[in-house]
Amino acid sequence: MTATSSTGVPSDLTPAPASQALFDRASAVLPGGVNSPVRAFRAVGGTPRFTASASGPWLTDADGVRRVDLIGSWGPMILGHGHPAVREAVVAAAEKGFSFGTPSEGEVLLAEELVARVEPLEKVRLVSSGTEATMSAIRLARGFTGRPVVVKFAGCYHGHVDALLASAGSGLATFALPDTPGVTPESAAETLVLPFNDVPALEQAFAVHGDRIACVITEAAAGNMGVVPPAPGWTAALLRETRRAGALLISDEVMTGFRLSRAGWFGLEGRQRVDLGDGAGEQALAPDLFTFGKVMGGGFPVAAFGGRADVMAHLAPAGPVYQAGTLSGNPVASAAGLATLQHCTDEVYARVDAVAATIRDAASAALAAEGVPHTLGVAGSMFSVFFTDVDVVDYDTARTQDAGAFAAFFHAMLDAGVHLPPSCYESWFCSASHDDDAVNVVLEALPVAARAAAAAQGG
Ligand SMILES: *Cc1c(COP(=O)(O)O)cnc(C)c1O
Repeated sequence: MTATSSTGVPSDLTPAPASQALFDRASAVLPGGVNSPVRAFRAVGGTPRFTASASGPWLTDADGVRRVDLIGSWGPMILGHGHPAVREAVVAAAEKGFSFGTPSEGEVLLAEELVARVEPLEKVRLVSSGTEATMSAIRLARGFTGRPVVVKFAGCYHGHVDALLASAGSGLATFALPDTPGVTPESAAETLVLPFNDVPALEQAFAVHGDRIACVITEAAAGNMGVVPPAPGWTAALLRETRRAGALLISDEVMTGFRLSRAGWFGLEGRQRVDLGDGAGEQALAPDLFTFGKVMGGGFPVAAFGGRADVMAHLAPAGPVYQAGTLSGNPVASAAGLATLQHCTDEVYARVDAVAATIRDAASAALAAEGVPHTLGVAGSMFSVFFTDVDVVDYDTARTQDAGAFAAFFHAMLDAGVHLPPSCYESWFCSASHDDDAVNVVLEALPVAARAAAAAQGG
């Protein structure tokens, strides 16, 4: 069965009758057939594969086809699917009860693990999703500073928080929607959207609005417009401008946190010491607040925000800024997160780094051999392949991609047994469970997919 996708690229070379039947049923009861937009394959066309089970680096779909997983649940599955130690921790926690509504030890253990890994993190609050973490961090920043304006960067995604859905990347980038209905002009009016990696634009915004800015929120290294790392000097400029204006810097590490290193992106860049010219001498690139999610939940709904103790002291019940959650610090989810982090050892990070380097170099070589214009975006073990020869530094340059070439590439990979993220604006996610067998499947698929991309170019 060959369908034609919205990009005009033939797709679904391999029939997927069981997934198609589930998708038809899903579409009758779920808008678009999914519970999160990117899963619907709209950017690449064809039938989304319904996963029946997953193990290590493998996804098995409803038709019984096994593929190498390079989505990793969009980041959490850094140890691979069904890691035995995490499963044991989940079962042990579940045997003691599912949710209490009182404090319990597991929350303390998880919070201690986070604080131990990321030096500037003094106190954290556990929540249930990355969206909740960024929403709450912004409320706290506004409450702490008594100021209204939030600065964000085009192409950075911080979850579906109303005030942050101005020029967001993930999903919206794919659908090329400038904004979303349902967000009032009022709730976006206090949000300033600036280009990522653009120091003069940042300085100008602070020169004009500095005394009204509560915070700057940024992806530590962007991963939702494809992977775009901060240019040298960018993070220092964010700190310099926020400090000078008395605003807070929120580093959104929901995707990068505990994935790129023991301490996430902060562990790669933040420990370098710089002089910000504020008289404090050389200091680490330490944001005031962080947000986390994805890896720290190990596949369960748990996320967090945290940072400076004096700022976190403004949070209820210690302070006046309200924030709460029936399932916050859920014992089963906290146990999954803690077990995951405890197994994120130096060896795990080394393996993930090595797998990512092998796959991205092979992808680039295969595309180069077929003359397909492309650029790699790399931040530690996160990477994406941009189907453009433009140097990608921000959202505008990311959007120069040939989406049709990517769609053809994606479907050829799917047919050859590799499930990539179904959008060219997403990171590819590797895990420590990607063994040589799994990596070899990817390496054999890439030249075939590169030929498909070459044939579809400009289409
Ligand atoms: C995934 C993500 C979020 C949102 O997290 P959810 O758990 O999906 O709400 C926020 N920020 C970044 C950087 C993300 O990658």
